[in-house]
Amino acid sequence: MKKKKKKKVYDDKNFIFVFTRENGKPIDFFIQKKFEGKVEESGLRLGPVMIPYKFINRNIYKKSHISLQLKSDFIVPAELKKYFRKNSVFYLGIKRGLGQDVSKNINLKCSESIIEENFDGVKEEDISLCPVCEMKIITRDKRCNYFYCKFCYSIFDQNLKVVSNGKILKKCPECGYYGRIKKYQEFYFVFLFMFIAWHEKEVFLCDNCAMDLGWRMLLGNLLFLLGIPPTIAVFIETKRKRTEYVKNLIKGTKYCKRGKLHQADEYYNNLSKYYQEQPGLLYNLALSALQSGDLVNSRTNLQRSINACPTYQPALSLIKKVENYQVGKEFAREEKLKRTKKKLKNGAIIIFIIAVFVLMFIVSGTLKDSKFRFRKAAKKIEKPMIFREIRYCKVDNPNIRKGPGSKYKEFIEFDIQKGDELFIIGGRLGWLRFKKSKSKDAESAWIKEEETEKRE
Ligand SMILES: [Zn+2]
Ligand SMILES: [Zn+2]
Repeated sequence: MKKKKKKKVYDDKNFIFVFTRENGKPIDFFIQKKFEGKVEESGLRLGPVMIPYKFINRNIYKKSHISLQLKSDFIVPAELKKYFRKNSVFYLGIKRGLGQDVSKNINLKCSESIIEENFDGVKEEDISLCPVCEMKIITRDKRCNYFYCKFCYSIFDQNLKVVSNGKILKKCPECGYYGRIKKYQEFYFVFLFMFIAWHEKEVFLCDNCAMDLGWRMLLGNLLFLLGIPPTIAVFIETKRKRTEYVKNLIKGTKYCKRGKLHQADEYYNNLSKYYQEQPGLLYNLALSALQSGDLVNSRTNLQRSINACPTYQPALSLIKKVENYQVGKEFAREEKLKRTKKKLKNGAIIIFIIAVFVLMFIVSGTLKDSKFRFRKAAKKIEKPMIFREIRYCKVDNPNIRKGPGSKYKEFIEFDIQKGDELFIIGGRLGWLRFKKSKSKDAESAWIKEEETEKRE
């Protein structure tokens, strides 16, 4: 008797997943252990473990997987510990197509749980849907200018008008400044004599970091033209759709990164006609001041940013560091070190390129000296040896040389005796070119035709 097994249907709330690494590749390479997951009312079920939504700090959908960051006070059960990656993060690989919806459902539950936690006094009219991702956000505070959606990083005003769409404008993963983030392909191609190597990586960067990447790629790929098209693609992508707003933002941030706050302010002021006290721009000024070690100025700008948008996460996490003077100083030092390291990295690339140039110069010099050998080797490959006939030497001291014509006097050491077999491969002007064996690598020489006799 065959028992018919009812096939379970999976959707955006019930799903099958595997734990993956940061890049979306499975952790267990040979046996992929599959788990069932469920977006329940009380929490997110991951296999045997239930995680209440209030412990979920962040959940981001990436192309192949979900990155789920938990709060540090959640105690991870032993059975899941081995799947836990650094910074309290799980990576879940969910069957293609469902990942985005599952991620959205988890976020929706998280947004509800935040409201539940702050339920005291929160009325229905205090809750709005984020105009970008439609998560539930508390918009009770009527004194501030803006609200921040921690699920999609968007900023919107009291009338739910989008001020900064988090899909485009957010914190840069590379430099930490608020800016326009786009996806770029970092690509280097190296061809060194017999070795080919390339490096390819998808990166998300602000326009300023993308320009740096473009110049770095141009240097790195200059020698080997294959890397030039991806480099041009980076420059084209960062120059695309630069509105007046974006242009001012990029220029202002460029000066911020150099620690020139006055110039940065000039460009950011041009943007105040769009939005007054934009929290992202104030955050950039604060970060710049912090990087130059000016904690007072940094704190002032962060306070302005938070006053304008009390839930703006980047400013809230930075002010924690700045408020503690000692930690702030330490942080400023670390930031400075980070920038120095980056400069060194760029310097190392330049040194590498110069080294390759020098090496190629030296090698090309060596090649010139051995031109003859190379030419000879090339000829050998071009024309395989065909033996016309076999003759034998009929004299005691045959006339042996490298060839007829101008090289007549160039005798070579070629031991040949009367009666030796000669494999003839060519002839000219009464001379025969021969080899002593049929081997392809055997040396050849010339002999006067009359000193040989055909073997019958
Ligand atoms: Zn949102
Ligand atoms: Zn950046």
